[in-house]
Amino acid sequence: MPVAAFAGPVHVSHHPGTPSLRAVCRRPPRFSASAPVRRPENAPGDLYVDSSCIDCDTCKWLAPQIFHSSHGQSAVYNQPTTPDAQLIALQAAVACPTGSIRTTKPSRIARDARSSFPLAMPNTLESTTVPDVFYNGFASPDTFGGASWLVIQRGDDPCVIMFDCPRFFKPLSKAIKKMAEPLGGIRYLVLSHQDDVAGHAKWASELGAERVIHKRECNERQGTTACEVQLEDANFPYTLMEGVELIHVPGHTSGSIAMLHRGTQSLFTGDHIFYSQREDRLCGARYIMHSREELVKSVEKLVNIPFLHGWPGHGGHFHFSDEEDRITQITSAVKFMRDSWKPW
Ligand code: SF4
Repeated sequence: MPVAAFAGPVHVSHHPGTPSLRAVCRRPPRFSASAPVRRPENAPGDLYVDSSCIDCDTCKWLAPQIFHSSHGQSAVYNQPTTPDAQLIALQAAVACPTGSIRTTKPSRIARDARSSFPLAMPNTLESTTVPDVFYNGFASPDTFGGASWLVIQRGDDPCVIMFDCPRFFKPLSKAIKKMAEPLGGIRYLVLSHQDDVAGHAKWASELGAERVIHKRECNERQGTTACEVQLEDANFPYTLMEGVELIHVPGHTSGSIAMLHRGTQSLFTGDHIFYSQREDRLCGARYIMHSREELVKSVEKLVNIPFLHGWPGHGGHFHFSDEEDRITQITSAVKFMRDSWKPW
């Protein structure tokens, strides 16, 4: 069975008089000196992507029924016409790290889109959500739109774990705390690698979380030398708590880590593997800062990791129907990466 990615769950309610999308989504600094304009590749209609898009993929994996790639940036190819489709389109706008998704008219459901985060995530093989896994949205331009996740650890010692950082936004912090406090609070902020740590100190302080990172990913410039738990190669696999293990997956960077959460059969992969819409398959990170061969070995290691749901930092999430499916898909990805893969 093929892996599958995309499409978030939707819950719609309308509040007449809510502010426009521009009012609820803070617009981060632009990457170009000229004012962004509507890209001509957008389908006619109210929703559009402007020229400030950095092609981070977030909107394309979150709302693939609306956004696609066109000439190196994203564009709307299918204007949303139903309330459900409008909500997922505006959720993509909230998640967009550069505020590049716009509407020509104020949207009455913009506030619903903003307050829907943390967002429950679908298992696209079964058309259901995966219980206890949430996407934080509000991607940061400083992580090139990297995804941040929450997972609920249940049982005798419950808590919530955050994996990588969204951009800091006070209402999101309040929503995360409201969700996590009855469940033991956010105990850990696990940082996959140095690319996805933006805002870590602020988030850790706000949430009262202990930061966990590989020591080789720490540096003074990003302030990660202050992280509370710094792991070395010899520590892996590292048991964070019962049923939660950190796995060393070097390749994209030398100290990249993934997190296995056994309760939800989830692997939070950071930047080492993702579902590529372009290739229509599982694939390793496009950018390699450390070692291609080590990245292939790190992906190969996943054959023996018991997970069915993959939550990456970039690109689409992915799901396996069972262990046999996982082994087949991972083995195929490894073969592709060895034989014909061309990372950027
Ligand atoms: S989320 Fe924003 S920056 Fe990323 S691809 Fe979509 S429009 Fe571009």
